[in-house]
Amino acid sequence: MGKVWFVGAGPGDPDLITVKGRDLIAGADAILFAGSLVSQATTRWAPEGCEIQDSKGMTLEQITQWLVNRGRERQQVVRLQTGDPSLYGALIEMVQPLDAAGIEVGIVPGVSSAFAAAAAGVESLTLPEITQTVILSRIEGRTPMPEGESLTELASHHSTLCLFLSITLLHKVQEGLLAEGWAKESPILVVQKASWPGEECIIRGTLENIKQRCQDEGISSQAMIIASPTLGAREWPKLKRSKLYDSSFSHRFRQATP
Ligand code: SAH
Repeated sequence: MGKVWFVGAGPGDPDLITVKGRDLIAGADAILFAGSLVSQATTRWAPEGCEIQDSKGMTLEQITQWLVNRGRERQQVVRLQTGDPSLYGALIEMVQPLDAAGIEVGIVPGVSSAFAAAAAGVESLTLPEITQTVILSRIEGRTPMPEGESLTELASHHSTLCLFLSITLLHKVQEGLLAEGWAKESPILVVQKASWPGEECIIRGTLENIKQRCQDEGISSQAMIIASPTLGAREWPKLKRSKLYDSSFSHRFRQATP
């Protein structure tokens, strides 16, 4: 029996794959990549003779059959997933048939687009005394939201919200956040194709105008929405400092200086 590795390819820039993921590609017999979101350049480390297939036009059944067939042939198989495989990646739906076939599975984490979007904007998703919580979620579309996870419930925490798969539903973001008392002027960051070389597009706006701003820029897919009270902190004159580097704070590696 072979082994099927689900490898997080990262958000777009092929250099953002992990070293472990790159090494697995370099030793792969077969690679199946999600071409709608993973750059084909990520497969450039594949050895000669490696079978490389785009799964863009395949159904879940075809994908799992492809993986099972190659895994059965004692092959090192790599399934390249966008960002991190644990987020909105249909991971378990692909793992279960492999388990049923007795094929070993391994997962390599990846840089999620939530983090690539924060990096693009030079933003921190947490700040002392502003928010210490990040919620990764989406707006209800065809996939229903489980109870307790409506946008208004999530927004009520006034923490950082990273919204996947929601760029066409910005009107719902506006409604939900305004209903929970977020100000019209609250900063919103939208990043399309975060980290993709030469294609990244960063839009800054407010809760009130972000939908229009995105429309004006023609942004309607592959975008991360970040709503957070931390946005724009780079320009703040007064910042609450992290305790980590505070001179009056002792920790494992440093004594406080009186
Ligand atoms: N597992 C992926 C998410 C897959 S769901 C991850 O960890 O990033 C697909 C959604 O992710 C898209 O609708 C978009 O909201 C977001 N996304 C993926 N790649 C992106 C990128 N490079 N820039 C901005 N958003 C991206």
